[in-house]
Amino acid sequence: MVALVELGIMRAGSVDEVGRLIWLQHFPVWLAIVGCVLFVRFHMRAGRPWLAWTAIGLRTLVLVLNIFSSPNLNFREIHAISQMQVLGEAVTIARGAPNPLIVLGLLSVLSLAWLIVDAAVEVWRRGERRLAWTVGGLLFFFVLVAAASAVLRLFDLIRFPAVITLSCVPIILAMGYEVSRELARAAQLSASLRERHAELSESDASLQLAADAANVALWSVDTASGELWVTAKGADLFGVGPERPLADFMARIHPADRERVDAAIFGAASGGEASVEYRVILPGGEERWYSTLGGAQQGGQGPSSVVTGVTIDVTARRRAELESQSRRLELDRLTRVSNAREFSSAMAHELGQPLAIIMSNAEAALGMLRRPEPDRDELQAMFADIIAADERANKVLARLRSLPRRGELAAEVFALNPLVDDVLDVMREEFVRRGVAVHAGLPAGLRPVAGDRLLIEQLLFNLLRNACEAMEDTAAGQRRLSISTAAVGGMAEISICDTGAGLPADPAQIFQPYYTTKPEGLGVGLAICSSIVEAHGGDISARPNEGQGASFRVRLPFAPDGTAAEEAA
Ligand code: ADP
Repeated sequence: MVALVELGIMRAGSVDEVGRLIWLQHFPVWLAIVGCVLFVRFHMRAGRPWLAWTAIGLRTLVLVLNIFSSPNLNFREIHAISQMQVLGEAVTIARGAPNPLIVLGLLSVLSLAWLIVDAAVEVWRRGERRLAWTVGGLLFFFVLVAAASAVLRLFDLIRFPAVITLSCVPIILAMGYEVSRELARAAQLSASLRERHAELSESDASLQLAADAANVALWSVDTASGELWVTAKGADLFGVGPERPLADFMARIHPADRERVDAAIFGAASGGEASVEYRVILPGGEERWYSTLGGAQQGGQGPSSVVTGVTIDVTARRRAELESQSRRLELDRLTRVSNAREFSSAMAHELGQPLAIIMSNAEAALGMLRRPEPDRDELQAMFADIIAADERANKVLARLRSLPRRGELAAEVFALNPLVDDVLDVMREEFVRRGVAVHAGLPAGLRPVAGDRLLIEQLLFNLLRNACEAMEDTAAGQRRLSISTAAVGGMAEISICDTGAGLPADPAQIFQPYYTTKPEGLGVGLAICSSIVEAHGGDISARPNEGQGASFRVRLPFAPDGTAAEEAA
């Protein structure tokens, strides 16, 4: 537009026409200057704002003053026009009295030049040297050229037509180059983003495909906001829609397991690992077992509140485990019963004889005492027989308590820790079902013990099951069982500690045969345990915990030095 108006001025044939066209030229020049300021501020993101406002303000003032000036703000009066030859063409030049107010126009251009220098320095400092040089330098140079030539022309110091266009073109080219570079970069960036996104969704999709094929659900929970993302497979597993809130998923979890799952997932947000098995009740009422493994995503400053993980359906495995477990429990119950039966029949048989002697001697003594003159010597002999029978009965009882001693006590040398591990492994299902958290402290390097491995296993089963049963009335999150081994005073010591109901005032009582507080109890488990321990030359004791529950301590002698365990410790 500036070029068009300039062309008009050069071709103008009268003073009036030149005056009007110069007046008109202020509008495109205002646009060009404001455009330059905006380019510096918004493209180069530099230059002091007050300088930008000064340039725009002054130019706007010039434009407004020009609107009310006649013939225009450049000349108070145009006396004449003259023709001169430029590149073989005759062009018109206006001559007259310059308007002093045009100095405002000059000031607006100078403030623009200042803004450009200021911006170029700032851009240079930012490290964008190319932008500082090419754009800053170029803009500054040509803005100054335009301003200087206008002043010189106005005051008739040089005689040349007004060709602002000549300085505008490089400026526009520089700005155009910059903007188009930016556009090209933006296009490139968006293409590479599109590519990256495609790559990501491809890997996401293939991950999901692999997860679906493996029957694994992927999920992610923001523990801060409770927001949940889950694959379609995950929604299927819970019988809920994928867009449903976390609460809908939690509602499907068996009420007895919900607290554990919640604690595991929200606990993982503080840097741990969520590993939990739980039951889910599907809309049709079917109960299934799921296993969930998750962890907090690592952000720049440690773990974030987002926990990501996988969930798989382990119902088939759990059912198989439960079946074998119930078979094992049945077997175990039978063993217990048969132990008890064996114990009772042995007891009846062994005690029968001395009791019969006591009875017959007591009856005879009673008969003798009814006589008018009882035979004192005979009576004495009868009572001596009763005492002897009683002593025998006591011996029998003592022998019966150490029941295993009667059988063949297999003398193996074995490491205790792997055996404890095996027992815990077999009982894992029971712990999960009862909501008992187990902690095992099994230090390496414990010397092996000698004895009957099966009996020691039986002993541990009994003690661990008793501990679980004692915690039946303990609050769900508080059921904790710890088992540890150690070498204490030259013996291997096994400690089993629970948070259950605790012990009676006299803890030794619970080791008595037939002592039980359970409706279905036999009360022989601990009696057998103490027989087993005694048969190994060890001891067993129970004491109440300082807080809640009871602790059992079993001590077994180590195998003599030089004997090696059959399994690695
Ligand atoms: P049963 O388990 O058939 O009752 P036991 O001889 O194994 O027979 O246990 C005897 C009793 O000892 C139990 O009924 C219970 O009252 C008590 N008892 C055993 N273990 C514990 C324990 N860990 N905490 C509290 N009481 C226990």
